[in-house]
Amino acid sequence: MFQRIALIGIGLIGSSIARGVRLKGLAREIVISTRKPETLDEARSLGLGDLYTLDARQAVAGADLVILCTPVGTYRKIMDDIAPALAPGAILSDVGSVKGHVVETLGPLVPAGVHFIPGHPIAGTEHSGPAAGFAELFTNRWCILTPASGADQAATQKLTDFWRALGSNVECMEAAHHDLVLAITSHVPHLIAYNIVGTVADLEAATQSEVIKFSASGFRDFTRIAASDPVMWRDIFLTNRTAVLEMLGRFLEDLARLQRAVRVGDGPAMEDLFTRTRAIRRSIITAGQETAAPDFGRPHENAVSLPGTSEERDHGGGEDA
Ligand code: NAP
Repeated sequence: MFQRIALIGIGLIGSSIARGVRLKGLAREIVISTRKPETLDEARSLGLGDLYTLDARQAVAGADLVILCTPVGTYRKIMDDIAPALAPGAILSDVGSVKGHVVETLGPLVPAGVHFIPGHPIAGTEHSGPAAGFAELFTNRWCILTPASGADQAATQKLTDFWRALGSNVECMEAAHHDLVLAITSHVPHLIAYNIVGTVADLEAATQSEVIKFSASGFRDFTRIAASDPVMWRDIFLTNRTAVLEMLGRFLEDLARLQRAVRVGDGPAMEDLFTRTRAIRRSIITAGQETAAPDFGRPHENAVSLPGTSEERDHGGGEDA
């Protein structure tokens, strides 16, 4: 499909792309570039690419597909570096969890003749780094592309075919719409998880050890989300502020309503809400985005046997940023 794919950043998402590209034979050559020499060495020892360099500009030279796989806050600096070396006709994409900011920041810097098609695979785990990736990460997950209205259709189609070949379902939408949808499906839930786990982190030591001991009763599931990469999530909240605040406002209104139901003992209101939320969970399972397997923090019988424990893998498949 491509002669040379350059991956800038080789953490969970970059290394999963590299493995998938290799597995499906989607490129003649994979070039890997990252910031730290030790990360590059790790990628090399895992055999993730064909060429390895700390020089991003060198990595993109001659590539017909370039994908930025670093935290969104790093894009501007990377773009300043690589823009002069991007080949005419190349597709420039990314995997960042926020899209409006990416379009605003990178759009004006894209050289003429380069096709800029931002992307976001809705797939991930709370693990980071080159060893955390696996080729099946994108299987049956959605990948959202946000091409500008005038974007080259053939390039958009080629990138769509690429993500489909990695196992994803692909949908195109406007960047602003993406950010609003992801604010409620991913960003606000992470903020809530960071907050509730943060509350426990601030509790006095004795209570904290009890929370950890009895964590299976709900708290544990929040800790998995709250273990996600701090830099990546800092960048998400710095760059999707408007949509997150909009959705957080609605969340707080609903929380106040629920708080009142608890205070006044309004059983029917609570039962009605909890019945509706249970239906949402069922529709996610029906849509194939989660399994109904009971989860007590133990390996699932149907977990795929790949790197990491089966518990991690089964959890990971359902998580996203
Ligand atoms: P990750 O595992 O932490 O990997 C990040 C990569 O970026 C590493 O190779 C790191 O290299 C590199 N990097 C970090 N800072 C850099 C800098 N200043 N300059 C150059 N390279 C730098 O992260 P990830 O989970 O793959 O996330 C990457 C992107 O995917 C983010 O934009 C995120 O929003 C998006 N995303 C993540 C998920 C998820 O669930 N994790 C899901 C969908 C999309 P060094 O070690 O060399 O610093």
